[in-house]
Amino acid sequence: MVSKKIFGLLGYPIKHSFSPAIHNAAFKALGIKAEYRLFEKKPKELTDFFKKLRSGSIRGVNVTIPYKEEALRYLDELSQEAELIGAVNTILGKSESLIGYNTDGLGFILSLRKEAGIDPQDKKIVIIGAGGASRAISVHLAREKAANIILSDIIPDKAEKLVSHIRKNISRVKVSTVKKEELNSGVRTADILINATPVGMKPDDPLPIDPRILHPRLLVCDLIYNPPKTKLLTEAEKIGAKTLNGLGMLLHQGALAFTIWTGREAPIEIMARALEKELKTQAN
Ligand code: NAP
Repeated sequence: MVSKKIFGLLGYPIKHSFSPAIHNAAFKALGIKAEYRLFEKKPKELTDFFKKLRSGSIRGVNVTIPYKEEALRYLDELSQEAELIGAVNTILGKSESLIGYNTDGLGFILSLRKEAGIDPQDKKIVIIGAGGASRAISVHLAREKAANIILSDIIPDKAEKLVSHIRKNISRVKVSTVKKEELNSGVRTADILINATPVGMKPDDPLPIDPRILHPRLLVCDLIYNPPKTKLLTEAEKIGAKTLNGLGMLLHQGALAFTIWTGREAPIEIMARALEKELKTQAN
């Protein structure tokens, strides 16, 4: 009997992840004998976990909060994207060596193109939040030749650091920071607004921006996928702006990871249906 190949999600804590549903549906559809599990590991359990990963008993993992950066020190090799972003969300175990990738940024770009039908090239983009997700998407948006990227974080220094990093590593990109109180003018002439903060995940969260600055020519993106329609997206819809939630990014980053692990094209429609079903199950 051929034993199952094990993949999974490393993080702590891992609550209600959609990833097992997406990946297990994909394995089943392609007849791959594999299983995707949750590896909820405390910081003190990390060293042992990475030993296991290196031994080959686990073939690959996705990495989530709080280990996307921490994982780097256990890896032997990094993809160009992971190196540039400085964090990994996908690890492949290959002949006892561990290779790190980051599919979050490209996952977002694919969602922008496929779900929203928008190409980031030549667009003016305002991003709220300069944490891990913002870093992944802003690096990719810069590489995709966005005309202008404006970053704002509750801690201005964090946004400044990300701007310096992008300027240093990607040539001919217009990127700057803006303080929260100056967001208004930035958004007024923007094509795309992205919420890359966790503000909006909880029902009593405030809006990450003043909704009066939204306008109908904007595409308003929220990287949050649960809830699928945040207060920000509701406000954007009210004034007739186009919206995009984080479900597409989640789907595409997962599909890219699937291909890294299996070398096969991901059955994206099946993964999308599994995601929808899981979303409905968790909502009930
Ligand atoms: P993170 O590392 O904590 O970064 C969020 C950043 O936003 C932090 O610097 C935070 O500052 C800042 N911030 C918080 N409130 C703010 C406000 N009101 N205005 C401006 N900045 C503010 O989190 P992350 O990992 O980047 O994740 C961000 C969001 O993206 C989460 O909701 C996550 O679920 C989502 N995400 C989605 C996907 C997907 O596949 N769709 C993938 C990755 C992440 P403090 O640190 O001071 O709070």
